[in-house]
Amino acid sequence: MQRRIELVEVGPRDGLQNEAKLVSTEDKVALIRHAIAAGARRIEVASFVNPRRVPQMADAEAVVAALGETQGVTRIGLVLNERGAERAIACGLDQLGAVAIASDPFGIRNQGQTSAESVEVAGRILAMAQGAGRSAQVTIAASFGCPFGGEVDPAHVVAMAARLAELGPCEIALADTIGVGVPAQVSALVSAVRAAIAPLPVRVHFHNTRNTGIANVWAAVEAGASVVDASIGGLGGCPFAPGAAGNVATEDVAYLLARSGVETGLDLDRLIAASHWLGGVMDKTMPSMLAKAGGFPKAEQE
Ligand code: ZN
Repeated sequence: MQRRIELVEVGPRDGLQNEAKLVSTEDKVALIRHAIAAGARRIEVASFVNPRRVPQMADAEAVVAALGETQGVTRIGLVLNERGAERAIACGLDQLGAVAIASDPFGIRNQGQTSAESVEVAGRILAMAQGAGRSAQVTIAASFGCPFGGEVDPAHVVAMAARLAELGPCEIALADTIGVGVPAQVSALVSAVRAAIAPLPVRVHFHNTRNTGIANVWAAVEAGASVVDASIGGLGGCPFAPGAAGNVATEDVAYLLARSGVETGLDLDRLIAASHWLGGVMDKTMPSMLAKAGGFPKAEQE
């Protein structure tokens, strides 16, 4: 098993986008800086989508401008179409994140594309990123189940991953957008996709809607995923996935991996402090368990 796993901080995008309370540009930048201070080296800083559909992301360009260059930190912009890719490239982001969707009904509701169309659009976004000298990755949403279509055929996800891998992404992610996956399913799908796209890395993205998120992370790591998305505090949802709860919390994943001997490069105390700060900004209790319980107890001084 791998002794080092990269965590991608998705709190500034996936964490915030489903929150009804609009967060200021300044607080979004502060959240990104908290993540960097805690050791995050790849951060999804915004999504470039229609602000009428996702009002929380209306200031994407302003966030990137206020953040500025981040030495040694890759700033990712999530995009669903060519228009979003143009915006993300224009404001100077380092990496584009495209989204292909494993089911037709969810694809049509989320981004107005069938599953096959979403693969084609992702391919055009990858080409745009490459043409602009940026890296790009693709996430396969609803890989473990669809809110409208139910079961998703794993063979379809593997075929999508194999097709997308030919288009030049730096990695392919499997996303449990609505938090229905369980560890046995995660093990099987991560293993199959890994075999289909090697040596390209597999990233995973879990929501803890049914309390299986953290177990799914471990199953994915054991099955060979090398990158894990997480969000400080465990905020998050999906505006187009009914009932979707938060992402797995960065501090919970960092604890799980560190205590298991897997290096992440993250500072747990700083993550917990960032989670408490974010709870204050959002005026709510974070879903994160570590923010409540703290890390492993330190021995009392004699
Ligand atoms: Zn998500």
